[in-house]
Formats: sequence, C-alpha cells, structure tokens
Amino acid sequence: MNVIDLRSDTITHPTDAMRQAMAEAEVGDDVYGEDPSINLLEQKAAQLLGKEAGLLTASGTMSNLVAALTYCHRGDEVIMGDQAHMFWNESAGVSALAGAQVRLVPNDDQGRIDPQDLAAAIRPRGNVHMPPTTMVCLENTHNRCSGAALTPQDTRRVADVAHEAGASVHMDGARIFNAAVGLEVPPSELVKDVDDVSFCLSKALSCPVGSVLCGTEEFIGEARRWRKMVGGGMRQAGVLAAAGLVGLDTMIERLADDHANARRLAQGLSRIEGINVDPESIQTNIVIFEIDPSIGTAPEVLQALAEAGVKVTPSRTQTLRMVTHRQISGDDVEDALARVSEVMEKLGATRSS
Ligand SMILES: *Cc1c(COP(=O)(O)O)cnc(C)c1O
Repeated sequence: MNVIDLRSDTITHPTDAMRQAMAEAEVGDDVYGEDPSINLLEQKAAQLLGKEAGLLTASGTMSNLVAALTYCHRGDEVIMGDQAHMFWNESAGVSALAGAQVRLVPNDDQGRIDPQDLAAAIRPRGNVHMPPTTMVCLENTHNRCSGAALTPQDTRRVADVAHEAGASVHMDGARIFNAAVGLEVPPSELVKDVDDVSFCLSKALSCPVGSVLCGTEEFIGEARRWRKMVGGGMRQAGVLAAAGLVGLDTMIERLADDHANARRLAQGLSRIEGINVDPESIQTNIVIFEIDPSIGTAPEVLQALAEAGVKVTPSRTQTLRMVTHRQISGDDVEDALARVSEVMEKLGATRSS
C-alpha cells in the first residue's frame, strides 16, 4: 500500500532541476558576503516582495526569531494573534531569546487581527510601568486558520494602527506565495504595508532547506548580525540558495494545483459522515476538518488513518489537518478520500455496536 503523506508541504523533496542546480552552484563564504548564489537569491527574493534587501536563513523559525531580535530590546512587548505559529510552534523564541513579552489578541477564523483589538492592546509610550510595544506580527497564509489568506486591505488596517503607535510590523509569510496565488495578487502587494516579511523555501516551493527574510537595507544589515549570533552564518550555503532560485523561478505558479487539490479534498471530506468542514472556506493548501466526537477523538482517527496509509497531523482537540503539495496528485486525493471514508465508517460502526 502506498502511503499518502498529507502531514505537511515541508515533506516535499528537491526536484531533479534543484539537485542539478545545487551540484553546479557557484559558492563562496557567505559570512564574507562572497557567495554569488546566495547574493542572487537574496536579491531576487527582495525584488519579488518589493523590499530593498533579503537574508537567507536556515528556517522560517530562524527568520522570525531574527526579526524579533532585530526589533526588540529586552523587556519590550510583541503583539500577535492567538493562533500565530510564532506563539504555538516556535519554542517561545521571542520570549526566551529576544527577551520580549508576547501579548496575544484574537485571530478570527480568517487569521485576521481586529485593528481595534490591536489599538487597545498597544501600550502607551513613556510609562515606566509598561513594556513598549515594538513589534506586531501577522501571518499569511495562516497555518492554524486553515491556510486563510490575508488581503492587502486586511494587512494595511493592522499595519496602520501599529505604525501610528511606533511599532514595526513583521509578516510571518512562511506561505506568502500560496496567499499570492490564492488571491491572485502579486506577493509584493501583500506585503507593501509591512516592514519586513519572512517566507519559507522548504515548504510548498519544494526546496530542501531555507527561508528568506526581506526588509529595508538597514533592517537586513542589523538582522545579518543577529543571524550570525544565533549560528546562522552558513558559509558555502550557495548550494541551498541554488535550489531556492529554482524554487522561486518554477514552483510558485504551480501552487494553484495544490489549492485545487485542497479544495477537492475538502469537498470530498465534507461528504463523509462524521466529518465537518466547509469546502468554500479553503483558500490555499491547508484543510483543517472537525471530527464528530461520536466517531472518536482526533488522535484516534489520526491513528486509524495512519494504519490505512493516510498521514495527517493533529490540529486542535477535535480537528485534524491535511496539507496538499507537489507530491500529492489528483489521484492521491481520490485515493485518500476513499480511505478516509472507509476508516470513518469502520470507527463509526465500532462505536455504535
Ligand atoms: C512552517 C512555519 C514556520 C516555521 O518554518 P520552519 O522552516 O519550519 O522553521 C513559521 N510560520 C509559519 C506560519 C509556518 O507555517
């Protein structure tokens, strides 16, 4: 039985073209700024996102951390949505390493932050009792909000409030190109009101390693020192950048296929007894769906699916997550749906007998 791996788009392997480019990459010592492949990748990424400069890092987590280190002093406050990846899944780097206190405001089911909630949460300056709010974080697409994409307007409303109060706006754009393709908006348009953006090469773009942080020359200059401090000065990492360049050149437009597959997956899931999901809400490549408690808990269903060769990840207590990517075909989607249907039927029958 073939395994259909819907856990994440991070499982995608580098393509043959990437391996070829990696083998042939021109390299140099990047800590001296001498790796031509990295320099080109950073420049291309920045250009694509309408920013002045870019910085290759080891991961999305490192990019987000480096952004926090660059903006914050110890004792500052960072505001983000209560479903943010930076809050849930990055080992508390913002507080542990950047020394900032994290304040949460609600995310709605579209991954948005209400500008009024943000305005109420931002600290007044010049009060010795209070940490200054120096950084506000947005996420696009929003991982825990089922891959919802923020529109340029959603982002502008929040950025205006943050900037008005003197805080910088960081976009965790791990899947910013999914948002761009999903909304049919140029990526630069999605980030024009934020101060900096990070995105992942290692997810749907199919590269083996890497993330790029983009912002002003000044910001990236500072960020370069923080990246070095956290061990991210990677020397001849042009072999990784070479794959990144292939990713930027060839892997963005095809994301539309992943989105169509995710929509089909959600449509199929919505027809299965004991599963609840609104297919119309699926904008990109992440499908989070609810399991009816009468069938079992999410971990029970996850286990049964794994035994049937369908790998998924847990999301919340009663929800599971599937992510489509380059290594999932339309046939895999049909196959996965048939297996999910069978598993759910079996679990339902066991429960009611
Ligand atoms: C995956 C992800 C990250 C972290 O990226 P890594 O490369 O896995 O460290 C950050 N933010 C979001 C929204 C993500 O989905």
